Amino acid sequence: MLAELQKQWGKTLSWEECGSLCERMTEFRTKLKLEKGLRGPMMHCRQCNAVHEMRLPPITIRSLLFALRKQGVVCDTELAQLDAAWKRYRAQHRLDGCGKRRDVPGTAPPASADHVHSPR
Ligand SMILES: [Zn+2]
Repeated sequence: MLAELQKQWGKTLSWEECGSLCERMTEFRTKLKLEKGLRGPMMHCRQCNAVHEMRLPPITIRSLLFALRKQGVVCDTELAQLDAAWKRYRAQHRLDGCGKRRDVPGTAPPASADHVHSPR
């Protein structure tokens, strides 16, 4: 998965592209989990008032940047620059941690078994 991230990430990617990369990585992680037959712990969910498997929150652009640092793809200085640039861009365009617009209807996670319960 990390190799995949290294392959797909580049310094020339726009934040929008980073957002879709996060989305692909989140999907990839879900697929890997399914293939290995790994299940998250069960939990009582207050959002849908049912007991179901705990879902991992989606991969954010910030966690993507930190993963790249851990792998040595970027150095500390680059990480600090990217992080600051992302924070600025995110505030300017009112995006969530995954690079999605928060004020557009229809972007809320669907209330299915696949919904995520991460704080935004
Ligand atoms: Zn739920």
